[in-house]
Amino acid sequence: MNARLRHLSRRTALMGERAPTFYDDPLIAVRAEGVWIYDEAGRKHLDAYNNVPHVGHSHPAVTEAVHQQLRRLNVHSRYVSPVVLDYLERLLALFDDPIEQAALTASGSEANDLALRMAMVATGRTGIIALDAAYHGNTALTAAVSPRRTPVGGYPANVRLVPSPDNLNPLGGKPEAQPEAFAEGVRTAIRDLEAAGHGCAAMILCPIFANEGLQSQPPGFLDAAAKALQDADALLICDEVQAGFGRTGTHMWGHRAIGVAPDIVTLGKPMGNGWPIAGVVTSREVMEAFQREHRHFSTFAATPPAAAAGTAVLDVMEREDLMGNARRTGHHLRARLAALPHESIAQVRAAGLFVGVDLVRDGMNAGTIAREVVEGCRRRGVLIGRGGRDDHILKIRPPMPFNSGNADFVAAALDEALTEAGA
Ligand code: PMP
Repeated sequence: MNARLRHLSRRTALMGERAPTFYDDPLIAVRAEGVWIYDEAGRKHLDAYNNVPHVGHSHPAVTEAVHQQLRRLNVHSRYVSPVVLDYLERLLALFDDPIEQAALTASGSEANDLALRMAMVATGRTGIIALDAAYHGNTALTAAVSPRRTPVGGYPANVRLVPSPDNLNPLGGKPEAQPEAFAEGVRTAIRDLEAAGHGCAAMILCPIFANEGLQSQPPGFLDAAAKALQDADALLICDEVQAGFGRTGTHMWGHRAIGVAPDIVTLGKPMGNGWPIAGVVTSREVMEAFQREHRHFSTFAATPPAAAAGTAVLDVMEREDLMGNARRTGHHLRARLAALPHESIAQVRAAGLFVGVDLVRDGMNAGTIAREVVEGCRRRGVLIGRGGRDDHILKIRPPMPFNSGNADFVAAALDEALTEAGA
């Protein structure tokens, strides 16, 4: 048995037959640098999918900051660390009023779980609204607002799912009708939760509707829905795990791009370039209401190395103008993909360095085509993924230092993979 097969069979033995992998031919990753991941044979693969290595895989500034901090001190948040305080000041300065306090966690799921509990405590209600194609995490509570997964034990009675916006098939039948149709779904859910005795504590959503297939909407889209929440005294939680840290190329946060002011924001994935750091930021009022009755503590959260990683990410983003790069390269990538001559491409959508390619196909499930295309790109050394309600939307979301040459490489691989899939 060669080394590659040996690794695969060891994995099955150790982690179970159905432990998920990407790709039919799973990538055995040995090292990574910048936008490239190297396999066991030294072959390089262009990473056009991972948003966790935000400033680039193995960025020396991040690894050095974490290394130095690990040599000095690594304790949890019940000790007072100036390194953590410095980071929090820097992070919170990136938000608008009324957001001024933070609780760090070790994953996005944990951040969303905490945010939902904060909203319930602050409002004294338990009802939650989420979108019907969302993903917010893997804890019991966040799985209940993640219809892309089935929560163990089924959906709890205090959750209502509303239709997600859709750029190809807009709610209300046409794009202009979509904001009001979306808001109407929210109003109905609020009434329903109130009638059932739960009341409405909060709605949670990703402001660029990333897991829904990047169904990004123009500024003002959420105004009517946000007003409905305000009228019900319920909170808006924006999950910035995918949208945040400049990914859209125009704004540091997705909620700014869509022009809404959330009560609670959750952060994750790109925050520490792979070091597990995530968190909740909110108003003093919400934090105080939560802390009156509850205490949040998490062993691996808010440690000095996490803060060092987070600080280094912000430093590199500024120094290398990665938000500007996301805007420029994203624009180029979008243009290249939109020019590909394939019938199955119904729409190419982009928010900076996040591109969704919506595939349609008469008589054949577009999810199957998307799957084949993802595999075809992988064979050509380009790593992409897919998402959306039926996993029919190609998801291209590379590390932020992606350049136009990398974008051209993606376009060429995608062109060939689509041809190969007969699409
Ligand atoms: N929210 C969103 C929008 C996500 O995409 C994810 C993960 N893909 C999460 C939350 C969960 O984050 P984690 O995997 O760090 O728990």
